[in-house]
Amino acid sequence: MITLAVQKSGRLSEKSVNLLKECGIQFENGGKDKLKAVASNFPMQMLFLRDDDIPECVADRIADIGIVGENIIVEKQREVQVIEKLGFARCRMSIAVPKAMEYKSAGDLKGRKIATSYPNILASFLKEKKVQAEIHEINGSVEIAPSIGLADAVFDIVSTGSTLMSNGLKEVETVMTSQAVLIAAPEQDAQKRALIDKLVFRMKSVRKAGQYKYILLNTPNEKIDTITNLLPGMKSPTIMPLAMKGWSSLHSVIREDDFWEIIEKLKDNGAEGILVIPIEKMIG
Ligand code: ATP
Ligand code: MG
Repeated sequence: MITLAVQKSGRLSEKSVNLLKECGIQFENGGKDKLKAVASNFPMQMLFLRDDDIPECVADRIADIGIVGENIIVEKQREVQVIEKLGFARCRMSIAVPKAMEYKSAGDLKGRKIATSYPNILASFLKEKKVQAEIHEINGSVEIAPSIGLADAVFDIVSTGSTLMSNGLKEVETVMTSQAVLIAAPEQDAQKRALIDKLVFRMKSVRKAGQYKYILLNTPNEKIDTITNLLPGMKSPTIMPLAMKGWSSLHSVIREDDFWEIIEKLKDNGAEGILVIPIEKMIG
């Protein structure tokens, strides 16, 4: 049996739970007050915690693994290893200053007061830039600190930048980028390791599937080569004759990112009846 720590309620929670469900793991999600759940079809239990507590919990082996943002791991400085990047909760950690402040380089932060909930990450950045500034630690509502005179600048999470903008701030330094990751204690016994590997294999398959689409189309036979060259498939596309003479059906897998560009080219080369279908799992 392994224990997985996930965020109880916040920006990581829903996606963490969905990922587990997509991995075929069934458990009662419980009510708001529930701290623990046991999977019914995988030897695993889940602990629902505040995200700040997850690195410590894993380092101290209260949980074997955990899902948390990279930002929290760097901030908490606990001994854990990242075993898989999960691709959600993407954000960056940036320094922002009031719009009117002139800012050319990190040197402009010298002697200033910077509000943050991430003092360790900020301290390493300032050290690296050899800048002496005052770190003012606050929990929550960091972005309003300059407007109420609590600080000269902020260091906080940014995703679109709209919160900064509405508080009259401009982003001037990106210190790190972050996404949700699966972490584990440095070592596990063989039995736990095997279960973790099994879970990681499933997560990889789910993630990979999300990045690809299955595509089917009809093509005149003389265009098969041209169209095949446009499709960087898993190996090579499947080609089947249609009942209509001179035409074939072609099946392949394409990357979601390449999708629109390829669709246009396919149409320009005579492809018809193009179907693009999501893939649920992708193995290997
Ligand atoms: P908790 O109550 O568990 O301590 P929290 O309020 O500290 O929660 P959340 O706001 O739920 O944290 O954010 C959790 C994580 O999600 C962050 O540490 C970060 O990795 C990521 N994250 C935060 N804000 C965003 C955002 N705007 N866009 C994308 N990811 C984000
Ligand atoms: Mg938190």
